[in-house]
Amino acid sequence: MKKKINERLVGIAVLAIAATVAGITFIYYSLFQKQVRADLTVSAKLLKDTRYFESVDIDTNSIDLSTDMSELRVTWVGEDGTVLYDNDASEQMLSNHNDRPEIIEAFEKGIGESVRRSDTMNKNTFYYAVLLDNGTVLRVATDAQNLWSVFISGIPIIALIILIIIAVCIGISHLLTQQLLNPIEMMAENLENSDYESPYKELDPFMHMIRAQHIDILSAAKARQDFTANVSHELKTPLTAISGYAQLLEGDMALEDQKKHFYQEIRKNANRLLSLINDIIKLSELDRKDHEPAFDEIDLCETVEECMDELTVNANARNVTLSFEGEPLLVRGNKDMLKELVENLTQNAIRYNNPGGSVEVSVKCSEGRPVLMVRDDGIGIPVSEQHRIFERFYRVDKSRSKETGGTGLGLAIVKHIVELHDARIKVDSAPGEGTTMTVVF
Ligand code: ADP
Repeated sequence: MKKKINERLVGIAVLAIAATVAGITFIYYSLFQKQVRADLTVSAKLLKDTRYFESVDIDTNSIDLSTDMSELRVTWVGEDGTVLYDNDASEQMLSNHNDRPEIIEAFEKGIGESVRRSDTMNKNTFYYAVLLDNGTVLRVATDAQNLWSVFISGIPIIALIILIIIAVCIGISHLLTQQLLNPIEMMAENLENSDYESPYKELDPFMHMIRAQHIDILSAAKARQDFTANVSHELKTPLTAISGYAQLLEGDMALEDQKKHFYQEIRKNANRLLSLINDIIKLSELDRKDHEPAFDEIDLCETVEECMDELTVNANARNVTLSFEGEPLLVRGNKDMLKELVENLTQNAIRYNNPGGSVEVSVKCSEGRPVLMVRDDGIGIPVSEQHRIFERFYRVDKSRSKETGGTGLGLAIVKHIVELHDARIKVDSAPGEGTTMTVVF
């Protein structure tokens, strides 16, 4: 960034200097040309007013203007264009001047002017001619630098100015970038401090976004850490139990009538481990951001019906009545995930129910949206706990969850599936009255 600002500033400065130099040279040269012309006019008029060249019998050999007027070339031309006198060269050597534009103009209009490139490179010769009263023409001329040489002569000073300005620009850009970057660096240092206000209003959305992302990253890292700790703890309990019962059996320390109970405990804990591992695998698959699940048009009613047989067996085992009613309704989704969702919600409704209780599952269309509802008249969930039940390993009724083979991950999986289907889930529950879980697609 610093390098870029430096380059841009220096670039702008060099462009500005080049434009200024070009403009000033042009203006200066116009004024200079004007001055040269004015000087020539004055010289010609002065020479004319002396009436020195008016007498025709003047002896041209006696005229000597060369020493006094070395800068000024004076040429006296006769009516026929022959050069009668020239202070710079012998008049015999000079050709007839009838073809010179300033002489032609002077013969016609009384005065004539022209500028020609001088023999010496980089110089122009300015001519001014006046018609004298005796019909001859007096011409004065002087050499002056042309535009290019004026420019060339200015190059060393221009180069010096450019160097000074580049040095100043580098200094200024250094200060500017420092001033610009300081608040951004401060902002980066204060990312976690929510009271810190960025000094640039324009940076506010950027800062909020970064801060939100930062918080997300921190909380995701914390959630991962908590999850790993919870998983280890959850795995350890059944493994410790299995190991303990196996040790007792191995050491022949169990009475014959206890053995059956120990085998049952080993099987129960092994099943618990299996359910846990299954749920962890499901969650980690749902967590994978790189893989998009295959979505199809799926009949929600048919999908729920397919889960009912197995769930009815579970309900009967707990002395709970399970009923289902529904109308064919299409949703865009993943069939396996939708089955998982229905099974988890219904399993909970059976698990946290009372003997003789009932569970109603329904699929209907409400306000143009497919709605899945699982209602039970079981133990219910206190309002204060309702916002936490979707957290991983969060259990309201810990002993019942463990005793009935719950992993504490069912609703976390449900929440994930609901989000992936762009749906919403609502909990209506009151302790002792029952729970209704509503998923709106
Ligand atoms: P679990 O495997 O323990 O059932 P879940 O994530 O499925 O875990 O549910 C989290 C907690 O929410 C459960 O432990 C239970 O206390 C409570 N819960 C879930 N569904 C119901 C329900 N229908 N009635 C009462 N409590 C429920």
